[in-house]
Amino acid sequence: MTIIKVQKGTKDILPADMPIWHFMEEKAKEVFTKYGAKEIRTPIFEATELFARGVGDTTDIVNKEMYTFEKSERSLTLRPENTAGVVRSFIENGMHRLSAPVKLWYKGPMFRYERPQAGRQRQFHQVGVEVFGISQPTADAEVILMATNYLKALGLNDLSVEINSLGCPKCRETFKTKLKEVIKPYYSELCPDCQSRYEKNPLRLLDCKVPECKEIFAKSEIQEVIQSDFICEDCANHFNELKDYLNILGIKYSINKLLVRGLDYYNRTVFEITSNNLGSQNAVCGGGRYDSLVKNLGGEDTPAIGFAMGMERLASLISSKEDIKTTAFIIGNNMAESIKLTEYLRDNGITAEFDLTNKKFVKQLEKASKTAKYALILGEDELAKNEVTVKNLETSEQVSVKKENILAVLN
Ligand code: ATP
Ligand code: MG
Repeated sequence: MTIIKVQKGTKDILPADMPIWHFMEEKAKEVFTKYGAKEIRTPIFEATELFARGVGDTTDIVNKEMYTFEKSERSLTLRPENTAGVVRSFIENGMHRLSAPVKLWYKGPMFRYERPQAGRQRQFHQVGVEVFGISQPTADAEVILMATNYLKALGLNDLSVEINSLGCPKCRETFKTKLKEVIKPYYSELCPDCQSRYEKNPLRLLDCKVPECKEIFAKSEIQEVIQSDFICEDCANHFNELKDYLNILGIKYSINKLLVRGLDYYNRTVFEITSNNLGSQNAVCGGGRYDSLVKNLGGEDTPAIGFAMGMERLASLISSKEDIKTTAFIIGNNMAESIKLTEYLRDNGITAEFDLTNKKFVKQLEKASKTAKYALILGEDELAKNEVTVKNLETSEQVSVKKENILAVLN
């Protein structure tokens, strides 16, 4: 019979990988909670229209990468990212009535139909934060701080923070026009994707990874436009204040004028954090401000900013974590007594197992030394005296204790 295999671009997260995943998840809860963020879990699938409107129909995500299917004549899509879903929930649950800022964090699987490669899967996981209700750059600084402190809590360093300001829809319009003007003579030499970006979303041209396009954009007259300070005074002040806050907070950053990010909805601040220890897929975090999205999706006008991190990429950077051993393994040949003692320990918060196969004593001890910290021997002698022999499997030290004292000894 043919064996059914895991789908291309998807992976099992196996028990041996779990200590790192639990570590990432626990640290997320711990760090983001300290900033006043609450966890939110939204459905894995949503109406396709949410992503078309919420991510933007000129993006790669919406154009090429969505898992879309029909059910009862409805078009549904597996979420490719979680900002759109969180914004939908924010609106639907009237969260604009809560006192601002409303800080939410999430973790979970995302789905994008991409070419699988190192650091790029079709089902992958993100952990992210969204902060609603604050337009001042203090929120931008705090969100970047949440990201860098989470990465620090994971023990990751050798990271680079890059920031840029995309301006507001008004000042961006002038920039787009200028950019199109200087690129026009090279239009026919652009890759097909860039030709369509040229019409629909010229800012995204700067995001192109095709070497021939990059060469064109490196030309001096085009660089002059890209590197120019096109943003209006208000946007410039916002960006300068953000930089001041980052300096005060001691967050090192650099400005990358090519940083435009893949989603349509960003305005003003965008940022990315990359690792110097990953290959070509080296971005671990991407984020930005999206002041018009809540309104565009039908909610009250609410400024917002957030980020998402790729958990597989984080996992590959975290040094291995030991699997936690069971505390007690009960060894004996009276099954009923072994079960009773094991359950007693579990009821009192101690991880415990006993031998389910009733093997010989030596075999049970072998199993215990592989999986547990202590062997609790419950032989005939012990049962007769209402005692347990506790053997420390690391040091081989052994003591006999009365059953009623076992919790005290193990704790
Ligand atoms: P890229 O330009 O690499 O495609 P993106 O702009 O599509 O990135 P975001 O949508 O900002 O990425 O997602 C945030 C983070 O999620 C990324 O920085 C990355 O760590 C992770 N990520 C995105 N797509 C994938 C994927 N297909 N597989 C694994 N991780 C991913
Ligand atoms: Mg992508």
